[in-house]
Amino acid sequence: MTDARRRVPRTDALLTDPRLATAVGRLGRSLVRGAVADAQERVRRGALAPERAADAAVAALPPTATALLPVLNATGVVVHTNLGRAPLSEAAREALLAASGATDVEFDLATGRRARRGTSALAALAEAVPGAEAVHLTNNNAAALVLAATALARGREIVLSRGEMVEIGDGFRLPDLLASTGARLREVGTTNRTHLADYRDAIGRETGFVLKIHPSNFATTGFVSSVPVTQLATLDAPVVHDIGSGLLRPHPALPGEPDAATSLAEGADLVTASADKLLGGPQAGLLLGRRDLVTRLATHPLARALRVDKLTLAALEATLRGPDSPVERALTARPTDLAARASRLADTLRARGVDALPLPTEARVGGGGAPEAVLPSAAVALPAALAAPLRAGRPALVGRLHADRLLLDLRTVPEEDDDALLNAVLAAHAGDEPRPEGP
Ligand SMILES: *Cc1c(COP(=O)(O)O)cnc(C)c1O
Repeated sequence: MTDARRRVPRTDALLTDPRLATAVGRLGRSLVRGAVADAQERVRRGALAPERAADAAVAALPPTATALLPVLNATGVVVHTNLGRAPLSEAAREALLAASGATDVEFDLATGRRARRGTSALAALAEAVPGAEAVHLTNNNAAALVLAATALARGREIVLSRGEMVEIGDGFRLPDLLASTGARLREVGTTNRTHLADYRDAIGRETGFVLKIHPSNFATTGFVSSVPVTQLATLDAPVVHDIGSGLLRPHPALPGEPDAATSLAEGADLVTASADKLLGGPQAGLLLGRRDLVTRLATHPLARALRVDKLTLAALEATLRGPDSPVERALTARPTDLAARASRLADTLRARGVDALPLPTEARVGGGGAPEAVLPSAAVALPAALAAPLRAGRPALVGRLHADRLLLDLRTVPEEDDDALLNAVLAAHAGDEPRPEGP
């Protein structure tokens, strides 16, 4: 046995450290033991002094009992799929917490009887889109489409344009998803052009519905044409419109992006959308439209398998009723304000010896919609070498690399996180150990 091996502090001795003992109550034994084991291993390798083992274990404790870590999104991509899409508002986070214990999600406190599940969240959605006769919620938009295809077109045909056969990411393709329900896809038109007559020729007694899918993650230009909802609505079949990003009303910053209210007003019978893209809420699927169709979906046996959790109901309602979501704030932030923040942050960092400069940039909406929209923004430009230590920090800070610099785009960073951003950069610059988040 080597010297170092003998000097490794024992697990039970380390666990008597009050900070680690408290952490067992908060995080559970296995996570704390994991942090202790890592510290012991570093002592064994000679990378850590034995008397620092407890400190190192404390520093390595995760902030919560999940391996998921909080990230500051400075990528300039507003709805970043790999960073969990929409960040929730404070109001939604508080609602999540309130609903996380026993809650009256399916219970009428006035009568003491069972009540319809999620009534208040559904009411909030219906109020936000008065043009919808009825609304329903699913796990996500893919589930909304599966439910619509199963309830309305299983064993029959879904008529859709070849120009709208979309792959949504991670290898998932909407046509495959729809076909998996037992509905047959009736493709019409060509990749670049589809006309009303193409749909009309395909519609018959086999038709379940006509599906229009918003190309939310790509754009085609040149000799292209597609059929707007107003024209599809003249066909003799229900029109389901997958608008993708979940805007409920037109958004002034995103004129090309479809929204639920407009689509219904133009004659769509059913609109489907995601709640965690431009709506800025939790993951959920929105279904809005004709009462008879929504009722068929909501009462279909499959609806039970796709229903949303109470936490989702709480966060969605708070997003709909509460103050502007972080996504909305990111979309509407003024470029001059962003530039002023970038200057201020870069000045502070330069005064502390960091090679930092303010830079005008272009932010994007991301996979959540509006693939061509450019949002003028401002960033703090840092040496690219800081990217890895910033990702290793707590909270982790993720920017984007551009021309040998690491850009921290401020459009996707809420202003109240500026101090956290400063601290993260200073810690990474100093080559500090990752530190647990402060209180
Ligand atoms: C994102 C998207 C989907 C998938 O939505 P999820 O909520 O991720 O299931 C489907 N259709 C379109 C057009 C989309 O943009």
